[in-house]
Amino acid sequence: MEIKENLLGYSLSSLEDFFKKINEPKFRAKQLLQWIHQKGVLDFNEMTDFNKPLRERLDSIAYILPPIIEEIHKSPEGTIKYLIKLDSGSMVEMVRIPEKKRMTLCISSQAGCALQCTFCATGAQGFEKNLTADEIIGQVWLANFNDKNELPITNVVFMGMGEPLLNFRPVIESAKIMKDQLGYGLSRKRITISTSGITPQIDKLPDEIDVSLAISLHAPINELRDELVPINKKYPINMLMKSCNDYLDKYEGKRNITIEYVLIDGVNDSPELARQLAKLLSGVYCKINLIPFNPFDGSNYKRSNNTNISNFKNILMDKGFITTLRITRGDAIDGACGQLVGKLTKSVKGKKLISHRSI
Ligand code: SAH
Ligand code: SF4
Repeated sequence: MEIKENLLGYSLSSLEDFFKKINEPKFRAKQLLQWIHQKGVLDFNEMTDFNKPLRERLDSIAYILPPIIEEIHKSPEGTIKYLIKLDSGSMVEMVRIPEKKRMTLCISSQAGCALQCTFCATGAQGFEKNLTADEIIGQVWLANFNDKNELPITNVVFMGMGEPLLNFRPVIESAKIMKDQLGYGLSRKRITISTSGITPQIDKLPDEIDVSLAISLHAPINELRDELVPINKKYPINMLMKSCNDYLDKYEGKRNITIEYVLIDGVNDSPELARQLAKLLSGVYCKINLIPFNPFDGSNYKRSNNTNISNFKNILMDKGFITTLRITRGDAIDGACGQLVGKLTKSVKGKKLISHRSI
């Protein structure tokens, strides 16, 4: 017997291949994409522009199914954290972060993570599995269609559990559905892939999809970065910077990247390191996002104090870098069930608000 296919994670071109395989016209792919991702319909029998024989045929060879929301935790400020249960039994988390003009969803790409950054609660859990494309886009689907009282998602950040560039194909496939005008219609600026610096995949990314890129740097020198982000031993800072510059060159100066830097007390927050960071990034078209370390059980690190944070920020700003500081939100839900927290990035000028979430 044929194994049934879950069509939730199929981009337009994958759906076109699917319909070609079953000798149906190409335009069915467009119709189906809209039914699933614009109307939120999962049952073929409700797809009224499909004739009955087609609906029955689809039912016998395919299905459309998102993962399950196991728990919902709401913080008083409006951040909502969802615990999502996958088919395998693994749990991942996604966070909805409302802002004035945006509704950002922070999604997971892997259950756990193999990279073991020393400041990260997901890293401490170890790696469980790569999410499939349907499990990734399923998070966006659930956030848009599961709770009709909530506003639709306007921005998606791959800043939940896992390293997105180590789950490349499913991440790209799901991001294509997010961008597609017949899917969620999000522009490239509204989708951010955050990476710890997997250089071969950064190099490949522009050939696959045009989205925003964030690099989790956290240290300007190898000795320190090797300790905080162990994957640095494989892809050291000079390799990472080369990939960033090549990436920017491919877009001929029309893009920038975000550099993320978690500030840990006494570890990577000295004025000297701020100056070294500025030197490393000189000439790289980027903005810097400082993230005060978010403590979690079992970690000995502490969040940098406010004086060190503002000194660090001021040094970067004096050197001409656009530097934002992420402000913690959603502590109430964090305390309730784990390590994920809603974050709000407030620009130093207090004008621009960028939403993020960290672990
Ligand atoms: N694996 C990817 C994406 C997920 S982590 C990456 O590393 O970029 C998303 C962001 O949260 C990263 O910038 C990461 O450095 C940050 N982060 C992880 N643990 C954190 C903590 N305890 N406090 C603050 N930020 C953290
Ligand atoms: Fe993995 Fe990112 Fe956490 Fe590092 S910071 S362990 S890459 S999820």
